[in-house]
Amino acid sequence: MEFDNIHCISSPDAMDEDEGARITHPFMKPSAAAAAAGRAGGNAAGGGGGGVAGAAAAPATSVHELLECPVCTNSMYPPIHQCQNGHTLCSTCKSRVHNRCPTCRQELGDIRCLALEKVAESLELPCKYYSLGCPEIFPYYSKLKHEAQCNFRPYTCPYAGSECSVVGDIPFLVTHLRDDHKVDMHTGCTFNHRYVKSNPREVENATWMLTVFHCFGQYFCLHFEAFQLGMAPVYMAFLRFMGDEADARNYSYSLEVGANGRKMVWEGTPRSIRDSHRKVRDSHDGLIIQRNMALFFSGGDRKELKLRVTGRIWKEEQSAEAGACMPNLCS
Ligand SMILES: [Zn+2]
Ligand SMILES: [Zn+2]
Ligand SMILES: [Zn+2]
Ligand SMILES: [Zn+2]
Repeated sequence: MEFDNIHCISSPDAMDEDEGARITHPFMKPSAAAAAAGRAGGNAAGGGGGGVAGAAAAPATSVHELLECPVCTNSMYPPIHQCQNGHTLCSTCKSRVHNRCPTCRQELGDIRCLALEKVAESLELPCKYYSLGCPEIFPYYSKLKHEAQCNFRPYTCPYAGSECSVVGDIPFLVTHLRDDHKVDMHTGCTFNHRYVKSNPREVENATWMLTVFHCFGQYFCLHFEAFQLGMAPVYMAFLRFMGDEADARNYSYSLEVGANGRKMVWEGTPRSIRDSHRKVRDSHDGLIIQRNMALFFSGGDRKELKLRVTGRIWKEEQSAEAGACMPNLCS
């Protein structure tokens, strides 16, 4: 992939493109991305994993240990198996051990440990994101389901284009984006960006850039990228909210691109960064500009791509459609 020949020129809002100083910076600095990716492993931030919180789980600890598969150490869920000598085993491991108990080497047979399944049913344990603020306590069998959806679960880094596995809360990720990915930070709810690419004939798959906006006490990620849509190269811009989907619905945004007396406008609700960059892109939930149109907007000799994207973020008055289903999420 080639990142160096794309630049974003941004100017403060309300400033005509010919006035004032512009900041020119590369789409992405490969070295910065590599550094960030390298760091990712050791940097799993924000107290993510956590295990079961101490005090609340204390009386259940020994039972909880019994519910750990002695082979893979994952929590066991029905059907829990056991050998004739009573050694327990999760169903995934059972299918792998060729009918031999891994503990005593006896034939395993097909015995379920109903007693342990029943004991598990009576257990109540705190959410594993207890230390991140989740106050909820769940029956053993519904805990896992909750944890996959828990609002306190850490976010993954919203930076696209690298396999960054950093997780954490929003303030941590904002610092991470700024320091490790060298992402541009802007304050304010309006923006005026120019995306410049010297050779628009070369549209590599997934060339992209990210800018972070801070307004209304929240953070938003503006993504801009070029990719192939079927056979056709397109440019796409969209906004993601650094927070949960329910909170994302409190905001709207518009994007506008144009020149030569034409313009395209997109208005939408930012998607939560819980939805991956790729998922949002593939659902086309943003401003999509065909290349021919993009070159037309660039004017001149079609040798250079120059898109001026202006945008605005605003807060919705108490959303009447809270709980309403979003397009592309309902199917
Ligand atoms: Zn197992
Ligand atoms: Zn055994
Ligand atoms: Zn929780
Ligand atoms: Zn990252």
